[in-house]
Amino acid sequence: MIKKILSILFSIIQIYVIAQNNVQQVLNNRNEAIVSFSTKYLTKIPDFKKLSIDKIKNDTITVYITQKQYNKLVELNIPLKQEQIPSLVSNFKMFNINLKSTNEWNSYPDYSSYISLMNKFSTDFPEICKLDTIGYSVNNRLLLALKISDNVAIQEDEPAFFYTSSMHGDELTGYVLLLHLADYLLTNYDNTKIKNLINNVEIYINPLANPDGTFKTGDETVSGATRFNANGIDLNRNFPDIEDGNHPDDNEWQPETVAMMDFMKKHNFNLSMNFHGGEEVLNYPWDTFKKRHADDKWFQYICRQYVDTAHKVDANYMTVFDNGITNGYDWYSISGGRQDYVTYFLHGREVTTELSKVKLIDAEELPAFWNKNYKSLINYIDQTTYGIHGIVTNSKGSPITANIKINNYDTDSSSIFSNKKGLFYRYLQAGVYSITISAVGYISKTVDIVLENNKKTDISIQLEKSTGINDTYNTNILYPNPVNNKIYFNNNYFCNNNIEYTISNINGVIVKRYLGKKSSFNINLPAGVYIFTAKNNKKIFTKKIIIQ
Ligand SMILES: [Zn+2]
Repeated sequence: MIKKILSILFSIIQIYVIAQNNVQQVLNNRNEAIVSFSTKYLTKIPDFKKLSIDKIKNDTITVYITQKQYNKLVELNIPLKQEQIPSLVSNFKMFNINLKSTNEWNSYPDYSSYISLMNKFSTDFPEICKLDTIGYSVNNRLLLALKISDNVAIQEDEPAFFYTSSMHGDELTGYVLLLHLADYLLTNYDNTKIKNLINNVEIYINPLANPDGTFKTGDETVSGATRFNANGIDLNRNFPDIEDGNHPDDNEWQPETVAMMDFMKKHNFNLSMNFHGGEEVLNYPWDTFKKRHADDKWFQYICRQYVDTAHKVDANYMTVFDNGITNGYDWYSISGGRQDYVTYFLHGREVTTELSKVKLIDAEELPAFWNKNYKSLINYIDQTTYGIHGIVTNSKGSPITANIKINNYDTDSSSIFSNKKGLFYRYLQAGVYSITISAVGYISKTVDIVLENNKKTDISIQLEKSTGINDTYNTNILYPNPVNNKIYFNNNYFCNNNIEYTISNINGVIVKRYLGKKSSFNINLPAGVYIFTAKNNKKIFTKKIIIQ
């Protein structure tokens, strides 16, 4: 009996060792492998946020690993199960433009056909389509984007929108869907709804963000595609992170990341969506921490709209989590993701969409996925035409780059800025909002605005130059300073009565506020450094005060 148990035990160990060896072999061949292990080991991994988690399901976590990460997991004695590589399970039907001139969108374009298709869109529809180069991959493949808009050669006073797919090279449903979408928009320009979008939005489409991963085994096939780029790096962990700094994955920014950051900064996208695969769900910010975005309800609203529209085609599609949508952190936390980078650092709004449970679906299924998604894809672009569309200028009509902050609402970098043409677009749920528009050297303005869902509200804000002296030396206006309790303000500084006085702490948080005309204030505040501000619609006075 003991012998039998020993022999079973021995064979289990043997299988385990073989599995580990196979992982090593896969790593040798592909620079990446997929393993799963029990979530009970997560506490053993110090920075699991850096892992390329693919999914967590029923206490099992599936991750894509590099050689370094594999060594670490082995060192930590975590029992690993080797997982199947989705891009190797079958042969994928490829599209070659030289063999067939029209794409029926039921095959994966090979690399050169992809480049040809992108060029063909712009040459076939030169009035409304332009091909733009985002940059180059590690292996010098092209990172391309189509711009679809009327007067396509110039930058118009319109919101900017961005669809991008497949930064994980083996998640390719979005690759074909976005090519299909470009074709659909361009060939349906006479449709009123499509025309309205193309005429009023600067639409950018990047179907393939990681071509080296997708064409890992050669330009002719997506079979063998990898998640990582050619340097074995997960591009969706490679962006600056709110919590974990510029290089949360301890890697340099990859050429794909740098090119994408530059491109997005240049175009100031107001709304975007990034496509992945491996689940069927829309994931909204934040990914890195538990805090909710100020626009949490609005994010839920637009995600809900996307999924509800898809459900009209297939009620069984996108049903996981909250019926097809989830907060990023609630699913699993990641560092260095694109969605948080865009939403926090660029003041844009980005959602991550997982289009199919299978990362690389059978090509024949692609038209069905198009059918489930295309109306949602169009409606999502339409969201950029709603909300507040504003312009900020000075008294001479010149544009001002200003901060637009929703009072008692914005937090964690959720306020936005007008662009160099003074234009801003802020998407909010229906409601009444108090908005403060401020810029250096100008008197801030606060306005109330009423918004409805799926409607646009235009506002035009003119800011007056601040003529007040930031008077540190003039002791006659605000005194005594330092102050114990009572401080006096000389109101001759202003010529009318509508004055707002505020005292802020050094973090910029207003701790006291008075309205009207006052010449003395009883300050009951802890000792420290504060900023005293008095302003009316013409002048502003600010001064540092020390409370003893
Ligand atoms: Zn992905």
